[in-house]
Amino acid sequence: LKGKSSSKMQYDEIMVRYGELSTKGRNQKNFIDRLGANVTKALHGFDQVKIHPQRDRMHIDLNGADSNQVMDRLKQVFGIQTFSPSLRVESDFEAVKQAAAKMIREQVKEPATFKISTRHADHGFPMGTFEMNRELGAYLLKEFPDLLTVDVHHPDIDLMVEIRKSGIYLTSEKIKGAGGLPVGTAGKGMMMLSGGIDSPVAAYLAMKRGVSLEMVHFYSPPYTSEQALAKSKELTSKLAKYCGSIKFIQVPFTEIQETVKEKIPEGYLMTVQRRLMLRLAAALAMKRHGLAIFNGESLGQVASQTMESMVAINDVTTWPVLRPVLSFDKTEIIKIAEEIDTYELSILPYEDCCTVFTPPSPKTKPNLKRARAYEARLDVEGLMQRALENIKITEIHAGDEFLNQNQDVFAELL
Ligand code: ATP
Ligand code: MG
Repeated sequence: LKGKSSSKMQYDEIMVRYGELSTKGRNQKNFIDRLGANVTKALHGFDQVKIHPQRDRMHIDLNGADSNQVMDRLKQVFGIQTFSPSLRVESDFEAVKQAAAKMIREQVKEPATFKISTRHADHGFPMGTFEMNRELGAYLLKEFPDLLTVDVHHPDIDLMVEIRKSGIYLTSEKIKGAGGLPVGTAGKGMMMLSGGIDSPVAAYLAMKRGVSLEMVHFYSPPYTSEQALAKSKELTSKLAKYCGSIKFIQVPFTEIQETVKEKIPEGYLMTVQRRLMLRLAAALAMKRHGLAIFNGESLGQVASQTMESMVAINDVTTWPVLRPVLSFDKTEIIKIAEEIDTYELSILPYEDCCTVFTPPSPKTKPNLKRARAYEARLDVEGLMQRALENIKITEIHAGDEFLNQNQDVFAELL
């Protein structure tokens, strides 16, 4: 904003606006409770902070905590539309004047336009909205004659004054939150997470709509390396910052891939492999009370992502398979991957289980009946049972590290 310098000001409170939440009628209470719990989790470590989730807003009492650090965390919490760092003063006009002048002094370094917008929630306070706007505006104009002029339509600075029972709050900033719905309000989903670019973006978008995820990752040692597994875990850690922590379920896929390779004609390797993956993801969803399966498929991107392929693969389950990036172009997906800081990890060259066994020319239009017939050559039950018996579950927290960079250095030295 013109005339405004990035503030190093120490605030008393962050006021949080819910946006979409306020339209959710009967579910409103669930949403607000969940958001309160998610904000509490996101602010883990700031012990002095007190959170007051109310019907229309959430007030976060900083109690001396660093407002910039708290705001950085808030930017990652879905369900927050905007938030404003505020100063709190006693219900006294003199105090309001002093606080407003302090804000202008610290934030406005070159001539700017402004207006005052007052909201009145405490009707015990003697000054009305109009009076506050006028009196405070006049005071600031007198105090900063060379700096401020009034513009009520498009001001550089909108100084918002909120009169509440607990005091009067002043803010001049409205910061955009992450939007979406609080993670957990939509229920649980199983995310098929590879080490690629698309599935982490799909995971982010699912969480943004309130889904709490468990990651399902297929790995095929010794064909796939420890690094490939670590990469998927590290991607999970990047995504965990939106919800605190995520369960990562690794499913051994070696026996299935070897068997498929041996028994299925090359044109159908991919299709049958994918059917087994989806069968396993669906089995895990049922066992762990997931309501849907998510993947990173984008229509037409590769052979396994045509609608014909979806018919031949989706056949194995009636559980919903949701595809958050279905209609996105690769460039659009990459843009989001960069924004959420997964891109650099995703393009590391560690091969995952699909690339290892991908035939040179998989069918882009597999036939459903054939896919079923080929798959019937396998002991599907037995293969699945052995894979499921050997899953490993790790709880991954935001910031956990799995990729040992030193190992690369080592490899180069050797
Ligand atoms: P991504 O970038 O997400 O890997 P992709 O364009 O490379 O996607 P595919 O490799 O064909 O596409 O995979 C399609 C989807 O299948 C992935 O987005 C992911 O949801 C799922 N998938 C692929 N490989 C694995 C794996 N090893 N473990 C779990 N899910 C996987
Ligand atoms: Mg992939």
